[in-house]
Parts: sequence; C-alpha cells; structure tokens
Amino acid sequence: MKHYKTLEALPDIKGKTVLLRVDLNVPVQHKKVSDLTRIKRLKPTINSLIAKGANILILSHFGRPKGHESQELSLSFLPPLLSEVWGHDVGFKEKTSQITLLENTRFHAGEEKNDPELAKQWASMADIYVNDAFSVSHRAHASTEAITHFLPSYAGHLMDQEIQMLTAALEKPQKPVTALVGGSKISTKIGLLGNLIKKVDVLILGGAMANTFIAAEGYDVGKSLCEHDMLETARNIMKQAKENNCTIILPKDCVVAERFEPHAEHTIVSISEIPAHTMALDLGPQSMEQIKSIIDQSKTLLWNGPLGAFETLPFDHATVELAQYVAQKTKDKEIISIAGGGDTVSALAHSGVKNKFTYVSSAGGAFLEWIEGKDLPGIKALSLQQST
Ligand code: ADP
Ligand code: MG
Repeated sequence: MKHYKTLEALPDIKGKTVLLRVDLNVPVQHKKVSDLTRIKRLKPTINSLIAKGANILILSHFGRPKGHESQELSLSFLPPLLSEVWGHDVGFKEKTSQITLLENTRFHAGEEKNDPELAKQWASMADIYVNDAFSVSHRAHASTEAITHFLPSYAGHLMDQEIQMLTAALEKPQKPVTALVGGSKISTKIGLLGNLIKKVDVLILGGAMANTFIAAEGYDVGKSLCEHDMLETARNIMKQAKENNCTIILPKDCVVAERFEPHAEHTIVSISEIPAHTMALDLGPQSMEQIKSIIDQSKTLLWNGPLGAFETLPFDHATVELAQYVAQKTKDKEIISIAGGGDTVSALAHSGVKNKFTYVSSAGGAFLEWIEGKDLPGIKALSLQQST
C-alpha cells in the first residue's frame, strides 16, 4: 500500500499553480550539461501537470552555494535546455509561460535548515506541492520537508517510480535475491551491509571493499586499498550474516599490479597469494565464474559499487563484463536487476548498459540510505500528510 498521494489523486488543478520540487543538480562540464538523464526523467510529471492545465513553478538546488547567491551556481542557464528536452516553454524567475524555473533553492540560508518561514514564502506562491526529487529525499530541507506542512502534497511520477522499484527489490523481491556490493570502503557502507544481510539470500563482495574482508579472513592483501582498522567490523558482518542465513561470497582471485596507473603491468593471482608489493585492482576470472553462477540462480539482483578500479583501464574488466552479463539476463527476463550509487551509475554507463537494467536509480545518497533501511524525511513528510 502506498503511504503517500500520487498525481492520479490530484483534484482539478486547471489554472492552479503547482510548486514542483525536482533535482536539476545536473553534471556540467565546460559549461555544458553532460548528461540529460535527470532532465529527461522528469518529463512524465511535467507532461501530466501540463495536461491538467496547471501552472508549474519549479524548485531545485544546484551545487553547494551554502545560503549565498552566486552567479556561478545560478540556474539561469537551464531554461533553454529544459524547453528543448521537455518540449514546453520554460521561463526563468518571472512568469512568462506555463512553466517557470525559480532560482537555486540553496541561495536561501533557510533551505538546508528546513526553515518554515522560507517554506511558507514558497507555499504562498502556489496551491499544490509536488515532490519529484527522490534523490534529495534523504534531506529534511525547506523545499522537501517544511513545505509539506503548508500545501497539499503529492509524489511525482519519478519519485513514485523510484519508491516502487526499490520496494519491489528489497521489501518483497522475487527470491532468491542477491546483493552485489563493491566500491572502495566498508566504512561508508556499514549500515548498508548490515541491512542487506538481513534481507538478501546471498551477498557478493567485490572491489576494494572485498580486500578488507579478505584481510579479515587472515590473508595478506599487500598494498591493496584496505581498511585495516575495520577488520573487526568485517568479521562482525560475516558473523551476523551467518545468523541471518545470508551467504557471503568473497573473491577467489584478483588482478594485481605494482603500480596504480593506466595499463600498468598486471597478473592474476589467487587471494591467498597476493604479492606483498602489489595491489588488487580488479576481480579475476575464477571470481567472475562464481559470481555469474550465483546470478544464474538468482531472481533479483541489487548492485551497488564497482567491482574494481574501473576508471583506470584495464581494471574495468570485471565490472564491464558483469554489467553486460546482467544486462543480457535482464533482456532475457531471467533476472530483475536494480542498481544505484554515484560511481555505480558511471560504471554502468561506461559499460554501455545504463538503460539495460530493470532499473537504475538516479539517486546516489538517497538510494544508499534507502538500502540501509533508513526513513527518508522527504518521503516521510509526504506520507504523514496522507494520514492526517
Ligand atoms: P558508489 O558511488 O556507486 O556507491 P563507491 O563510491 O563506494 O561506489 O566506490 C567507487 C570507487 O571504488 C570507484 O572510484 C572505484 O575506482 C573504487 N574501487 C573499486 N575497486 C577498487 C580497488 N580494487 N582498488 C581501488 N579502488 C577501487
Ligand atoms: Mg561514490
């Protein structure tokens, strides 16, 4: 059951004004938006509000201006691009068309303080509030939380879709469910691992994260990225996994190099034979075979964290190979594949399969906090409204 109202539940909003919170914190390189995913994904909500005859005032943050106005972080560069991608005119600050983009929410000191006065100011400009920014729902800010106390509030299509997909993956998944967690550090993902071992049947570890577990098992990891002060934590996670009937899978072999640089000379070794002067930068072929066979037996896969140092070639090998393997299985309807995380999404894009998974979350931090099992304040605020 949904605990929040979606756009289907909107009353007649013809001629009314909707305050729409979105995430237009888009990647910019050389003054150009380098990836349109976030903008494109907002189209269903925009179209549906336009079709209902509403005026739309858009709120978004951009970068970290910390409560001060800054020319560099102004959203003024976006309206032409938004108009082009959405196919509707978008004005800036002044209402010149049906859709108006307001200035960066974080120019206001009250935004990150969840200030009710700021929320009230925004609310006074509109009749309805719609939140379509799942990726900022782990923050209680004036434009995501306080605002819901002043306007009837709804979840947009993208927000609803993210919640539905993540719920399907974690709360009532098709079993067996396997989680694949890689990336650099366990210290940033203890909460996530702790929650996953209670929910999934198999937890596969890869990336530098696995090095810490390998070290905790008593092997020498040489110069590999490894959190030597986290060995006890790793052992604890392995113990809890056992108590929860979750099988943890560690790599069997890895690709090691003496230097961490593009095309560094490298060899494949068993994890019990990592030479002291080398570092593990990617998973080896035996690990890959094992992971594939587990995936073959799984119905749902949840993936966060690259399997190797994929930004430095050829240590992208395991990540790319597995991403393509999962994409094919997804296409063949043999697995439901869900992935998320900032670097994970880049890795999937690098592997050419970003659109070939069942669902790739565009949220970084919010995705991780959801998997940790935390309540996300932005979503909670929409839900509280529903029950009152
Ligand atoms: P996400 O942002 O998807 O949550 P993380 O931030 O946890 O992922 O981790 C991504 C980083 O982990 C990548 O920059 C990648 O280079 C690094 N990484 C993965 N495996 C290794 C490894 N064996 N050695 C060094 N870095 C690694
Ligand atoms: Mg990251």
